[in-house]
Amino acid sequence: MTNISNVEVIAKNLIEKESITPKDGGCQEYIKNELADYKFKHENIDVENVKNIWLRKGSCEPLLVFAGHTDVVPPGNIDEWNTDPFKAEVKSNVLYGRGASDMKSSIASMVAATQRFIDNNPNHKGSIGFLLTSDEEGPAKYGTRKVIEKFKREKINIDYCIVGEPTSSKKFGDTIKNGRRGSLTGNLKLIGIQGHIAYPDLAKNPIHFAGNLISKLNNYEWDAGNKYFPKTSLQISSIKSDEVASNMIPRSIDIVFNLRFSNELTQDDIKIKFEEILSSLDCQYEIIWNCSAEPFITNEGKLTKILQKVIKETIGVNSNLSTTGGTSDARFISKHAKETVEFGPLNQTAHKVNENINLKDLDNLEKIYYAALCEILL
Ligand SMILES: [Zn+2]
Repeated sequence: MTNISNVEVIAKNLIEKESITPKDGGCQEYIKNELADYKFKHENIDVENVKNIWLRKGSCEPLLVFAGHTDVVPPGNIDEWNTDPFKAEVKSNVLYGRGASDMKSSIASMVAATQRFIDNNPNHKGSIGFLLTSDEEGPAKYGTRKVIEKFKREKINIDYCIVGEPTSSKKFGDTIKNGRRGSLTGNLKLIGIQGHIAYPDLAKNPIHFAGNLISKLNNYEWDAGNKYFPKTSLQISSIKSDEVASNMIPRSIDIVFNLRFSNELTQDDIKIKFEEILSSLDCQYEIIWNCSAEPFITNEGKLTKILQKVIKETIGVNSNLSTTGGTSDARFISKHAKETVEFGPLNQTAHKVNENINLKDLDNLEKIYYAALCEILL
């Protein structure tokens, strides 16, 4: 019989707890129990239908926090899975199951590394915390955002935070995220005058104004990006006019667009510039903005350097700093913690059918988190 590592046992147990967002499926209770013998105090911070837990060992500085989410996305088409998504299965040294990449393997690695670290170094300095939520894959309204608000009120200061999102892209260890782009959506209505196609002088066609607007937007350079951010891009996702007969000029047209923006701009800069372009069109409009994430970049300091060092020492990979990809809870934590970075396994199968992690990567992820604990708390 082969020896199953502690991290593999924990990862399997987490995968088998069905926790489709915003359900936690008992994951947080299980982690609390795993850490109970290691002097962690716990606090459940449930908000609405979301489960959050804060676990902390020690009260001294520095405070190193492992952060993550216990919820997963739905399995998708079950018929396309080769295994049961909520039954962890290993085939040819690969662990399959929903959350194997995003992000139950990271949580398992964090827990196993912490246990091993405390066993080997019972008198370490500082404190270790776990901030876990069941609302990351959903609206992310009552999860990490709420816990961070509470930390601010109670002056719980985080020195270093590692978020276990799957950041590796081609090879395990190749990418650390030290920030993320902002995301701003606009719902624009251009309003003209409805009329007969045969009498265009008596109408005002909003689609023709839209054509002008789009060409101006296509030619506008928002910024050039910088060392960490690709340049800001605006993409239109839908254009729809009033439903009218083919001999009619519609009254209005709705355009939905989104900008992924760098930290060279604020959402207000974008709104001002956009409305400046709009007002040059001589067309009435209404616009509703929704900013779901401001861009952030962590202070380039100790934590990114430590992670790059321990990744190199553990698996021999040089990791790049990147801000690409979608949003994550790091956007809330980075507003409060001194340094926040995201590092985890390959994201190639995240949110897909047959989500998986190589057992070797799982093992190495535990080793990397362990080495980070040693660097920071010894
Ligand atoms: Zn995730």
